[in-house]
Amino acid sequence: MHEWALAESVVNTVVKYKEEKNLLKVNKVLVKIGKLQQIELDIFNSALDDISKMKNIEGKFVVEEEDVFFKCRVCGSEWDFKKGIKELNEDESEYVHFIPDLIRVYSKCPKCGSPDFEVLKGRGVWIEYIEGEGL
Ligand SMILES: [Zn+2]
Repeated sequence: MHEWALAESVVNTVVKYKEEKNLLKVNKVLVKIGKLQQIELDIFNSALDDISKMKNIEGKFVVEEEDVFFKCRVCGSEWDFKKGIKELNEDESEYVHFIPDLIRVYSKCPKCGSPDFEVLKGRGVWIEYIEGEGL
């Protein structure tokens, strides 16, 4: 269960932060998830709820998704996931539908056709901020 492992590391980070900053309580945690990340949001949210209760973190966890952007290493043009999908053939777009991260394998720069590009945004999981009350 990928979601549970992720939720646990998010909550552990919050616990550590709370201790380091001597916070009395945590009010809100904003977690960002790139859309290329394969995460079931329902499972992730309930995992965050359960684990934070277990670890005595009373704050609210808010999960937001980040859109995906690519940048061509050859000509520098940028495009998003939707445009990337449009350039794929039927089979490829079906694979990408199930495993979004595969778009990195199939996508090409819409301008110059190069397969050499980087993912600017839309990958990974991170904590954007933690709001708490100190002494
Ligand atoms: Zn290009």
